[in-house]
Amino acid sequence: MLQLDQLSLNIPDTTKPRVVVIGGGFGAVNLTKNLPSDQFQVVMLSKQNYHGFWPLLYQVATAGLEPESIGEPIRKLFDDHSDFHFRFVRVTGIDPVAKTVSTLIGSVRYDYLVIATGTKSNYFGNKEIEQNAFGLKHLTDAVNLRSQLLQSFEQANLTQDPALRQGLLNIVIAGAGPTGVELAGSLAEMRQHVLPKDYPNLDFRQMNIYLVDGLDRVLPPMSPEASQHAHGYLLKLGVNIKLNKLVDSYDGTTVRFKDGEEIPTQTLVWAAGVTGATIEGLPAETVERGRYLVNDFNQILGYTDIFAIGDVAVMKSDKWPKGHPQVAQPAIQQGTLLAENLVRQRRNEAWKHFDYFDKGSLAIVGRARAVADLPGKHTLSGFIAWIAWLFVHIYYLVGFRNKLIVLTNWAYRLFTYQRGTRIIIQPYINDHDKVGQEFARQQAID
Ligand SMILES: Cc1cc2nc3c(=O)[nH]c(=O)nc-3n(C[C@H](O)[C@H](O)[C@H](O)COP(=O)(O)OP(=O)(O)OC[C@H]3O[C@@H](n4cnc5c(N)ncnc54)[C@H](O)[C@@H]3O)c2cc1C
Repeated sequence: MLQLDQLSLNIPDTTKPRVVVIGGGFGAVNLTKNLPSDQFQVVMLSKQNYHGFWPLLYQVATAGLEPESIGEPIRKLFDDHSDFHFRFVRVTGIDPVAKTVSTLIGSVRYDYLVIATGTKSNYFGNKEIEQNAFGLKHLTDAVNLRSQLLQSFEQANLTQDPALRQGLLNIVIAGAGPTGVELAGSLAEMRQHVLPKDYPNLDFRQMNIYLVDGLDRVLPPMSPEASQHAHGYLLKLGVNIKLNKLVDSYDGTTVRFKDGEEIPTQTLVWAAGVTGATIEGLPAETVERGRYLVNDFNQILGYTDIFAIGDVAVMKSDKWPKGHPQVAQPAIQQGTLLAENLVRQRRNEAWKHFDYFDKGSLAIVGRARAVADLPGKHTLSGFIAWIAWLFVHIYYLVGFRNKLIVLTNWAYRLFTYQRGTRIIIQPYINDHDKVGQEFARQQAID
């Protein structure tokens, strides 16, 4: 059997400056794309071997898109870069004195280090919720959630116990930001158009979709006008919105709120917060609220050769006193500019300061409805915003094959209301769900 000590990072020596990039997301990919192979050796270390397009993750979770259509293999993205070295590993530490980063299978020296590790779900220290709720941050999360939802419908169809059936049919989404809103809208569409045909025995009027948030409106990062439109669309879709409401605990079967209310559910989706995916090794003062403090060259406080870009970085300015929003555009723009600045360094040219170009934000609420905040404080809603949402998301999706698959899927669904990927490939085994465990065990027998 293979032992860990038989593995190593195995990076070729180089005389060029070596840029070590941690992560394979929007920031890392746009940085690497713009670093010429004849000037730099790039080593990318990421715990996923693909670049994931997270804005469409909820589609995978609700059986609208297959997982592969929103991920592109990292190796394929850079197969034309002659001095690019990808390693599928998690980075566990940084040593800024030795200028190395470490992994389970060894360490690598850097000349420049770029941390582009994004975020992870924030459970605010509540271990019980962390253990029992479903996150929605990665493809594995989306596939688990899809399995959980489909298994719940299957089990609800089999049980004669009304209380158990209700727990299976209640879905609670904590967090009414774009992820929560998009997921709730998509589930509501599914309830209306897909599930009654699949399960004619079940009464889907009993399926409740709760969208809860501690704040007083949905889509808090967007304009009040966009929030209002989205709220109206969700109500029309029959989503049960609960605002000013905080989840207190979840034991896998019942969500309890701070105000004492309880909702029985087998499915709590946690979209209520994220924190930066920082790595051990840099001094505590470089991190503020889970994000690395950077200047407008993306250099981490106190360092000239260590950078953070994207969601894991906080770059404060007069215009953005709390830093930029944790969305794809700052990561894309920072990655691109940092590459340009590293090339400038080679030519002894002055570096350019980062100035965020805000392209606005969009959220989709079910079929053919969306809201958009455009630059200049204009808000769009309804079908026109939905078309904008569709084209922006297809445009930024990496890979021609993926764009084509997603567009075809969308066209198919627009006319048929269908969800093509309602399959349970990898059953989700819930610790509390003894029946589900036994089913999964039985089904795994050849
Ligand atoms: C469900 C969801 C929906 C979203 N919807 C939108 C949207 O509609 N519009 C929008 O603009 N933004 C959206 N976002 C936010 C957007 O995806 C992020 O802002 C963007 O991905 C940030 O890019 P990044 O490069 O900083 O991090 P990411 O793209 O998250 O990449 C982080 C990378 O780091 C890797 N990594 C992390 N830790 C380690 C480690 N220790 N070692 C090795 N590798 C590591 C990860 O595997 C990943 O490859 C959404 C996010 C989510 C989760």
